Amino acid sequence: MLARRMSLFGSSGTAAARAAANAAADAGMEIVDLTAGEIWSDLAPTIRDGAIEAIQQGLNRYTDTIGLMELREALARKVSVETGQLWRADELAVTNGAKQALFNVAMTLINPGDQVIIPAPYWTTFPAQVQIAGGSPVHIDTRRNGYVPRIDDIQRVITPMTRAIVVNTPANPSGAVYDAETLSGIAQLAMDRDLWIIFDECYGPFTYDGHRHHRVVSLAPEVRARTVIVNAFSKSLALTGWRIGYLAAPKELITAVKAIQSHTTSNPNVVAQHAVLHHLREGDGAFEARLKGQLTAARQAGLTALSELRRVPMPVAQGGFYFYLDLSGLLRPTLANGHARTADDIVAALLAQAGVAGVSGTAFGDPMGLRLSYGIPPEQLEPGLERVVSVLNAWNRRNRRSNQKRGAIDP
Ligand code: PMP
Repeated sequence: MLARRMSLFGSSGTAAARAAANAAADAGMEIVDLTAGEIWSDLAPTIRDGAIEAIQQGLNRYTDTIGLMELREALARKVSVETGQLWRADELAVTNGAKQALFNVAMTLINPGDQVIIPAPYWTTFPAQVQIAGGSPVHIDTRRNGYVPRIDDIQRVITPMTRAIVVNTPANPSGAVYDAETLSGIAQLAMDRDLWIIFDECYGPFTYDGHRHHRVVSLAPEVRARTVIVNAFSKSLALTGWRIGYLAAPKELITAVKAIQSHTTSNPNVVAQHAVLHHLREGDGAFEARLKGQLTAARQAGLTALSELRRVPMPVAQGGFYFYLDLSGLLRPTLANGHARTADDIVAALLAQAGVAGVSGTAFGDPMGLRLSYGIPPEQLEPGLERVVSVLNAWNRRNRRSNQKRGAIDP
């Protein structure tokens, strides 16, 4: 019944995890939901004021397809400050969230049969969009290298069909922040092998413990002509529902993006555009500082709770707002016993036994991972993580008991 492309991907794994949590809550369970890819927060006052003003002015009509010129100019100034380079409005397009920015890029850059390198674990939409465009995602495993790709590993999978590499730093789901050396290595490869860099920095403001967010175009200005910067206000201003993202790229690509967007969604919501414009003009950084403070405190409290875990290493948590746990120390022994196979089983146990919802790494191409968001209300986070620790440690004790029964040596 459906077009063949629909056999290539399902709907987003993270959305499915949230749906399972909601279903359990509807069934009367008290759920701590750690699945969300968004931050629990109030609206920034400047966003609220900008939106109210736009409504009071009675704004109701289409804007330019890729956004109000004043907004594109304000974004060009933002990107110029962030990168230390001059960007102009004709190198910027406003989109319905970063997701549409990435979709536009996939549709304007990828030919059928092209390969796109996506380090794994990855945010599920990256490969799905490549497939929608008729390309093939090529994954490289980053798990043994702190979730940052090794340049050698990238080099090994490049073929004449390789068109682009996706760089997402800070990374969803792993929380890894790419170091400057890796980014410079990727830039060099892009130059040598004629690749595009799709640079998703949606989590850029959130780095911790001395880790810094680096931008590939600042480290290697020569890649600017082959780089697309993708960003949004969804995470940085806790504004997921308002759907304002953007991309910064060479002018020719922006023109192509405008053509695609003119046939798909047209402009992003006019009120939301004015709200963000007002924020960019009037915001003093206080809201962003508060959000970062909230996440920094949540991360610290969460890491303290997670330090009680046995056989699960501490998450990298260098950036973003996810704890990404490597469950292989728990799953390998159960695999031997023929019990659990993947993190899906642990996610199901967490929901059933502890009422905590997380996202299994299978959604991110890593059957051994578990993503827990700490963007939730602080009073829920600690009890939620304590329950996670208790279920995972019980799992570990059960492994040890059955190993002892089988006479196996506890590794
Ligand atoms: N990129 C990454 C890495 C993300 O995690 C997300 C959202 N989870 C997006 C893009 C999409 O963000 P938006 O809501 O702005 O479309």
